[in-house]
Amino acid sequence: MKKAFKTLALILAAIMVVMSFASCGGTATADPSAANDTTAAIAETSPAIADGILTVGTNAAFPPFEYAGDDGKPDGFDIALIKLIGEKIGVEVVIEDLEFSSLVTSIGNKIDAAIAGMTITEERLQTVDFSTSYYEAMQYVIVKKDNSDITTADDLKGKTIGTQLGTTGEFLAEDDIENANVKTYDKAIDAVNDLRNGRVDAVIIDRNPASVFVGQYPDELKIAETVVFDPEEYGIALPKGDAALKTAVDNALAEIKASGEFDALVEQYINN
Ligand code: GLN
Repeated sequence: MKKAFKTLALILAAIMVVMSFASCGGTATADPSAANDTTAAIAETSPAIADGILTVGTNAAFPPFEYAGDDGKPDGFDIALIKLIGEKIGVEVVIEDLEFSSLVTSIGNKIDAAIAGMTITEERLQTVDFSTSYYEAMQYVIVKKDNSDITTADDLKGKTIGTQLGTTGEFLAEDDIENANVKTYDKAIDAVNDLRNGRVDAVIIDRNPASVFVGQYPDELKIAETVVFDPEEYGIALPKGDAALKTAVDNALAEIKASGEFDALVEQYINN
């Protein structure tokens, strides 16, 4: 029933979009809801969300982007963002909490998309498409607070480095740091705990989670601030070739950025 109403609403929206284009010769209308209707109409043609549900994978262990909320359900910046995108494109968003390293290969079978502070990389682009980027990130190095011998990337040579499995932090440690002994963990916090216990010399992880984890143990840990790597961009991973879904998600993202809703989420979840 609910679905029938929604389908009807979407069909009406699509008709209105077509009529508004017809009546103004294809130029944009002044109606602020028109973008939503267009986006929803485009989304209607996506095979992934033909059932009206966008099933989105995440790994709720990467604060402030995703973590288990007070009720145990995934919460965080990414979760709020994808729910807002779902509203704009007219689908119900269902979140699935999975291992980070399984997200890319689960798209198209277990899940329709993934939002997980995921860096857009050439390698991942072989398997999935990405939305336009929504956040700039960077790998940070966490060390013990009293550590004074890791101050440059070169100082990481030959060290034991903790990383989260399947992340750009792991690839950086393996590919760019000579003779590194890279230990991988399913959850970033386990790498952080091994640093506290002295089992690894450093942890390489994205900037914002690094700040959250160091903030949890300010007497024990610090960020090696002089060690700097290249910037990365986060995107929402989408099924390869589903152009309608990509267009709808990109439109929704652009709208959320233009309206100030994006900045409000940054304030609520990241800058607080
Ligand atoms: N940005 C990193 C990556 O894409 C880490 C993401 C994560 O651990 N959730 O690999």
